[in-house]
Amino acid sequence: MSDWQHNSRHTLKGADQCHDFFQISGVEDNHFPIKIPLEFANLIDKNNPNDPLLKQVIPFKNTQSQSEFSSSPLEDEQYAPVAGLIHKYPNRVLLITSRVCAIHCQYCFRQNFDYSGHDAMSNWLAIEDYIRTHTRINEVILSGGDPLSLNDEKLEKLIKNIENIKHVKLLRIHSRSVVVTPSRITHKLVELLAKTALKVVLVTHINHENEISTAFVKNIGNFVNVTLLNQSVLLKGVNDDLSTLKQLSLKLFDAGILPYYLHMLDKVSGAEHFLISDERAIELHQQLQKKLSGYLVPKLVRDENGESKTWMSLEAFAN
Ligand code: SF4
Repeated sequence: MSDWQHNSRHTLKGADQCHDFFQISGVEDNHFPIKIPLEFANLIDKNNPNDPLLKQVIPFKNTQSQSEFSSSPLEDEQYAPVAGLIHKYPNRVLLITSRVCAIHCQYCFRQNFDYSGHDAMSNWLAIEDYIRTHTRINEVILSGGDPLSLNDEKLEKLIKNIENIKHVKLLRIHSRSVVVTPSRITHKLVELLAKTALKVVLVTHINHENEISTAFVKNIGNFVNVTLLNQSVLLKGVNDDLSTLKQLSLKLFDAGILPYYLHMLDKVSGAEHFLISDERAIELHQQLQKKLSGYLVPKLVRDENGESKTWMSLEAFAN
């Protein structure tokens, strides 16, 4: 068993373990079980219920349900022509490669997703057939769960299979594992992404500068021939202030990662307390543009059900 597999088994689970480890009280379990890898937990301040990393991973007790929040805000399932494959945009498809995540983020829009009928790994032949017959598809996105929950051998096999489809040129990997368990960046992973014939884009998911540990910076620097981008979710009480967003961009850039997207919250039930108004989000984004060079400012976007991402701006808001 490699280090990351060993580390991924060392997680905090459930309210009682959180009380003991973080020396806080009042955490309650809910339908999306608490799961916090120790590598991430060790970055969290003890005795501080307002720690911005802690807030992302423990359920909020006094959630007020709001009508526009639902269990599946993006309704991904209806864009799955083949089990395990989501096709919303003409040139790219997203594969649900794993139901497992290294961490459970309490704002996750897929926290209620029915993974049982959507396993790209076990349905590969049908998926391959679909991609081969849709020749406009030039990019395959590995998602989940977290695709890096797969071991390197399975990942290698999948990447080779994708490489064999001639019109696919780009491979995008969306992963939060790399930052919450930096040991996931193994030599084998680095090697297999370096040697594939596909152009590789790794999109990390980091919301706060405190997530960027020394181990992560060291390991992410090992990738070669991989474009590194980051997406964040704008979360009340976590990163909804100018200084935090600015520091996040600067620290990402120091680690060789370009800030790519700043997502508005997807309205999943249980995440109501993370919601920031459109006005406030746009205001923050405008302030950020004044503080940073353009390449350090992520695009402020909202995922719309069945539509392209919406670019958030004052003009769009006024309309
Ligand atoms: S790692 Fe990604 S998919 Fe998994 S719970 Fe967090 S946001 Fe959701």
